[in-house]
Amino acid sequence: MAGVILKNITKIFSNGYVALKNINLEIEEKEFVVFVGPSGCGKTTLLRCIAGLEDITEGEVIIDRQVVNNVHPKNRNIAMVFQNYALYPHMSVYDNIAFGLRTRHFTKDEIDKKVNNAMEILNIQKYKNSKPRELSGGQRQRVAIGRAIVRDPKVFLFDEPLSNLDAKMRVSMRSEISKLHKRLNTTTIYVTHDQTEAMTMGSKIVVINNGEILQVAPPDVLYNSPSNLFTATFIGSPQMNIFENVYENGEIKSDFFKFKVKFNLPNHTKVFLGIRPEHIYIDKQTDIFLKGTIELAEALGDVTFLYININGKSIVLKTTINKRFEIGETYTIFFDRNKFHYFNQEDSKRIEPII
Ligand code: ADP
Ligand code: MG
Repeated sequence: MAGVILKNITKIFSNGYVALKNINLEIEEKEFVVFVGPSGCGKTTLLRCIAGLEDITEGEVIIDRQVVNNVHPKNRNIAMVFQNYALYPHMSVYDNIAFGLRTRHFTKDEIDKKVNNAMEILNIQKYKNSKPRELSGGQRQRVAIGRAIVRDPKVFLFDEPLSNLDAKMRVSMRSEISKLHKRLNTTTIYVTHDQTEAMTMGSKIVVINNGEILQVAPPDVLYNSPSNLFTATFIGSPQMNIFENVYENGEIKSDFFKFKVKFNLPNHTKVFLGIRPEHIYIDKQTDIFLKGTIELAEALGDVTFLYININGKSIVLKTTINKRFEIGETYTIFFDRNKFHYFNQEDSKRIEPII
């Protein structure tokens, strides 16, 4: 087991593309960390840099207190699990899991013990002799995980391992992987583009966009105090509503709002105001309200997402009112000002009002 430290990591590909920009992160021994960000933001590249499959242009990767920049991937003692399982189609489950051990010259007995143990942990003993094509997606992914487990690595790297599974299997595998981590206690980095997966699995979530780390925080902090506009809109579904405003003479002003609030900002600063769908109401009165018309109602059973047009701007709110909403109906829309988030438009960073 080992901690991982990423120090000033920059990755520039040979075509000049800057995929990672000055990444700094400390992952403690036994920790389960989730990297989340949109497709193309650099998640896989960062994992590959940690695994040694990709050279880094600048910076240091430190595993277990040792700088490993020049250590061959094979000797970093890291096991990676991919989205596409990467199983050998002609080999049985047993042989797929055993394969890496055979090339490492373990004895037959040692291999047998390790493979059986992994199959038991993952509950796939009965598929021991099956070929990958005879297995479901979830079972195949367990085999891929089994292959990682038998390596007894210092660090597990998971690269979007559940993306190919159907929704129900994804949910059950999520908790399986969390349980697996509790059992093995191996330092784990788990990559996903899916914010729900990140929020449910990670105790520490690293938000990445455009090759940069934007925020590192536990799920509740990311949700309740996103440090920047990107995190605010990336985490949460439906996403946070954003309004452009100007801060002037102690007031927030726009076509939609005008209310007193103090910031430590110069006059005329442009400010984004954010509000989550569950903090906008049609059945609870507040002192900030606007008239709006329903454009679309998505009833999920327990909650309904109402897409509402307010003076040409579309917003979404979440309500538990159990009725059938009609398109074109007009409502008074109430905003909970205690739940407003503010971001400086200049750098998209969170700003707090002065109380
Ligand atoms: P993610 O895993 O977050 O979807 P990747 O790490 O795979 O993103 O890719 C990050 C960016 O780097 C993408 O824009 C991708 O096109 C680019 N990229 C990946 N590999 C290479 C490469 N070998 N050469 C040039 N650009 C690359
Ligand atoms: Mg990727």
